[in-house]
Amino acid sequence: MQNIERDVVIVGAGPAGLTAALELKKTGKTVAILEARDRVGGRTWTNTIGGATIEIGGQWISPDQTALYSLADELGIETYPRWKEGASVFIDHDGKRTVYTGEDFPVGEATVGEIDKLIAIMDELAAQVNPDKPWEHPEAKELDTISFHHWLESKTSDPVAVECVGLFIAGGMLTKPAKTFSALQALLMAASAGSFSNLVDEDFILDRRMSTTMQGVSLKMAERIGAEDIFLNNPMLRLEWSDDSVVAHGKDVSVSAKRVIMAIPPNLYTRPSYEPPLPRWQQVTHQHQSMGLVIKVHAVYDRPFWREQGLSGTCFSPSSLVQEVYDNTFLNDPRGTLVGFVSDEKADAMWALGEEERKTAILESMAAFLGEETLNPEVFYLSDFGSEEWTRGAYATSYDLGGLHRFGPTQNDAVGPIYFASSDLAGEGYQHVDGAVRMGRRTAARIVAELDG
Ligand code: FAD
Repeated sequence: MQNIERDVVIVGAGPAGLTAALELKKTGKTVAILEARDRVGGRTWTNTIGGATIEIGGQWISPDQTALYSLADELGIETYPRWKEGASVFIDHDGKRTVYTGEDFPVGEATVGEIDKLIAIMDELAAQVNPDKPWEHPEAKELDTISFHHWLESKTSDPVAVECVGLFIAGGMLTKPAKTFSALQALLMAASAGSFSNLVDEDFILDRRMSTTMQGVSLKMAERIGAEDIFLNNPMLRLEWSDDSVVAHGKDVSVSAKRVIMAIPPNLYTRPSYEPPLPRWQQVTHQHQSMGLVIKVHAVYDRPFWREQGLSGTCFSPSSLVQEVYDNTFLNDPRGTLVGFVSDEKADAMWALGEEERKTAILESMAAFLGEETLNPEVFYLSDFGSEEWTRGAYATSYDLGGLHRFGPTQNDAVGPIYFASSDLAGEGYQHVDGAVRMGRRTAARIVAELDG
């Protein structure tokens, strides 16, 4: 066991932990990062599979994500646009396939009117919600104790409109059924992206990608921090703490420091043991933040065949197994890559199947949008963060019904020398890499102010 001393020990080498370390080093503080995995990047992760570059985790950046943009600038990383040219495809409840252009789903004039009405209500409320303090909204308690699904139902009697609007936040973002999280949680998601209209606009929210891949952002930060301060394969198993110091025990290194930053997802806060235990409120809070579950599907073809038919590769169907599909061809790759998403209860059902059955079901669902050629990819890969011990779900954590207004107000409080930083605790950029960067910067600044002030 190696024993070392630093000003700050950081647990987790995802984007939040690495950003915090980078910022602390800029002010002359010494740091050590304990990382459980054999790599940096956390929920951002790239691999070459069957010769194809696959972004297994987070990848897109949207125009409002200015913290991530400024970090990319600092690191000299360029971005490139997602392929958007061509018509989209929609499949309705009865399995009817429609090729369409424009922003509105082809669901009939009356339903489009109801969807627009719901979006306008969400926009108005989201504008009143401070993403850093959603619990301060005057109706926070009411909005947090009704499910998003039931709240939408209280605003319209059109079930298709409820399903279509629910898709964007339930299947598309929190990756939990819309009956299991609150309207306030949905409004936080919308406010964190600037508005609900931004969230439902795939050209905004999935706007661009990193030329290095998103994990490249973490790899570049790690390079600047220096390998001597990053201890891979070292999960923090035990934290001893007093009022103004900690000893973080990794698998084979122990770090004595003045402060610790827990830069891991909130669902994993209970994984290490704490001596003494965390205070009552913190222990209870952490049990109310749970991971969603989504399967990110990657299918690579010899060429982007859908473009030949004038299709962008963008497909939606709230009722299908794969409810969203996009052209995800990597920068300058002559082949064509589709990415699809299977969310929440549909993901549960897929993991209950055998490998071949699962592959067939998923590809058949994608082929209903884009045709027979979809059935035969050269590479087929499913991102499975649900089985990763150091994440345990995807994309991120959110509160259960009623948890946000009850526990949110103290979620970012430090406990003595212990600070919490995760994209899942962010306001702007909530659940996104941008939020991780914001939390990393903010937490480093708080610690510097405290240690130097
Ligand atoms: P993480 O990335 O989870 O990093 C936490 C780190 O802590 C990990 O490296 C983990 O191994 C480590 N760790 C955990 N426990 C311990 C321990 N006890 N000791 C030591 N280390 C530990 N965001 C976007 O902006 N755009 C997207 O397109 C997007 N798509 C996504 C797709 C998928 C499939 C997933 C899973 C996520 C996606 N996200 C996306 C979300 C984004 O990846 C996360 O918001 C971001 O990675 C969170 O950063 P973080 O540093 O807070 O946490």
